[in-house]
Amino acid sequence: MPSGTDLSHSCDTCIVKIAGFIKTTLLDWDGMVACTIYLAGCNLRCPCCHNAAIALNSDDIVAVDENIVLDYVKEHSDFIDGIVLSGGEPTMDPSIYEFLKKIKALKLKVKMDTNGTFPERLDDLIGSKLVDMVAMDVKSSLNERYVSVAGAEADVEKIKKSIRIIIDSGVDHEFRTTAVPIFVKNEDIRNICENIRGAKKYRIHQFRNKSTMDESLSVLDPYPVSKLTEMAEIAREYVKDVKIRGA
Ligand code: SF4
Repeated sequence: MPSGTDLSHSCDTCIVKIAGFIKTTLLDWDGMVACTIYLAGCNLRCPCCHNAAIALNSDDIVAVDENIVLDYVKEHSDFIDGIVLSGGEPTMDPSIYEFLKKIKALKLKVKMDTNGTFPERLDDLIGSKLVDMVAMDVKSSLNERYVSVAGAEADVEKIKKSIRIIIDSGVDHEFRTTAVPIFVKNEDIRNICENIRGAKKYRIHQFRNKSTMDESLSVLDPYPVSKLTEMAEIAREYVKDVKIRGA
């Protein structure tokens, strides 16, 4: 079992292991004042990941007491619109149901980031109305090369299933791709967009070569904006609302 999948932690009364907490952000959910909660552990090992310690659930991560987080959220629910649940991979831990029920009891909206590798759990969370917005990574073409972009075994059929679950559910959503030059070319954008036909939004994120899980990516130059613009044009053949972020 990879270290990032061991979610045991020392707080006896906590349901999940919170690896990080941002009290207020305007950046993680468009148009919303949100808190962001990072859950420890991920089943993937994306070379471009900027949250490597959280994804790996490193020993040096000190869990934030969930009760302190929930108390803060409760006290400030007059100006917080919602909670962004990120990671790591939030859908990896079955305890996520109970945790989200606690957040929903505070009458807050929830946005969840996911890599889409746990479609059944995602389906249940959406069906149970525990999430209001889903932001799912589609890292490159959905074929046998996905394993190199994800850094670990990733069942592309499960990822495709998650895509259809999200689109067909009608839940607010976006799909997104980080344009890592060695992993994402024009033909990959076309493959991704063929798979997300019918999606509400698609975002192409500029690649940042700092603090990546695979440090060898630090020598990789990001694409120029003109290349991202070209990719966005391809994406618009399939999805109406396409934007570039971080360029
Ligand atoms: S970028 Fe990859 S490794 Fe990092 S948290 Fe997301 S899915 Fe996991």
